[in-house]
Amino acid sequence: MNAPENIATNDQPALTEGQNDAEIAAHPAEAAVAPAEGRRCGLIAIVGKPNVGKSTLMNALVGQKISITSRKAQTTRHRITGVRTIDATQFVFVDTPGFQTRHGNALNHALNKTVTGVLSDVDLVLFVVEAGAFSGADAKVLELLRPGRPVLLVANKLDQVNRRGELAPWLQEMGHRHAFDEFVPMSAKNPKDIERLFAICGKYLPEQPWFYGEDELTDRSEKFLAGEMVREKLFRLTGDELPYTSTVVIDKFEEEAPQKKGHKRLVRIAATIVVERDGHKAMVIGEGGERIKRIGTETRVELEKLMDAKVFLEMWVKVRSGWADDEARVRSYGYE
Ligand code: GDP
Ligand code: MG
Repeated sequence: MNAPENIATNDQPALTEGQNDAEIAAHPAEAAVAPAEGRRCGLIAIVGKPNVGKSTLMNALVGQKISITSRKAQTTRHRITGVRTIDATQFVFVDTPGFQTRHGNALNHALNKTVTGVLSDVDLVLFVVEAGAFSGADAKVLELLRPGRPVLLVANKLDQVNRRGELAPWLQEMGHRHAFDEFVPMSAKNPKDIERLFAICGKYLPEQPWFYGEDELTDRSEKFLAGEMVREKLFRLTGDELPYTSTVVIDKFEEEAPQKKGHKRLVRIAATIVVERDGHKAMVIGEGGERIKRIGTETRVELEKLMDAKVFLEMWVKVRSGWADDEARVRSYGYE
């Protein structure tokens, strides 16, 4: 059971097309560099129950997909930092796993520790809920917020609210639940709202030197992002069938310099998808290997864009029953 079974899909296209060149985000070269004095920088935590749109918000704020999202709850498992520098202000966002209340296993325990850890040292908290809704799970997260730290209520998914008139009384009610510093009804998918949120957040950040370089997007390694990207495709393409207790381990991440001038570097990645049961494995592989092949292709295409490299991706599926209940194993898969 330990050795990865040989159902790898070698998803290796020819080294010809350079279709992604145009999409590499370029920072405006002419932007004036802010003088060191007068700079602002601070940490902004994005918290909320699963599935309210935290990772979507984070990606929109950073301007790049660094945190994975899905319709399925509990996709984000690690704390992920996203950095965006605008003029003299550097915003350092921390996306967190949704706080877990339903199961008491070792994986969820580790996830909850990550959330409370993040909250203890930030300058501003974005408490994200779905506009017009508030449930027991939202309340559990709200309880974690300590007084003395500014908190904005981000009422996300405003585009899904049909009766806008009912929002005012709801906001008033929210104001009674917690002394929020500001209310921000918005949609993480609306660029105008994202711009407005930056303007609001900026004033809460202290004057101090930047923590990261002007162009840095995240503190996470490419290897880490590769694993997250596989995980996103896995969840998206298996729908609700696959239990969330499956994970991805990156076994190999090797870079090679470009072979010719003007060519991209080559990154060779081997990933293992760890599932709990044989039935899950069959689900991941799909009929005739169709599904795992698609997971591989979609992951590769996105990673090539994100890393500006040519990517060779090899994937395996392994069964390890009970890993999410096993504390040592949870740690060995990279959860604190
Ligand atoms: P998280 O668990 O809080 O990180 O939530 P995700 O960012 O993974 O998002 C969960 C789902 O909500 C995804 O299907 C997103 O596309 C969707 N979503 C996020 N923000 C918005 C929004 O502003 N409007 C709408 N309609 N959907 C959104
Ligand atoms: Mg998330």
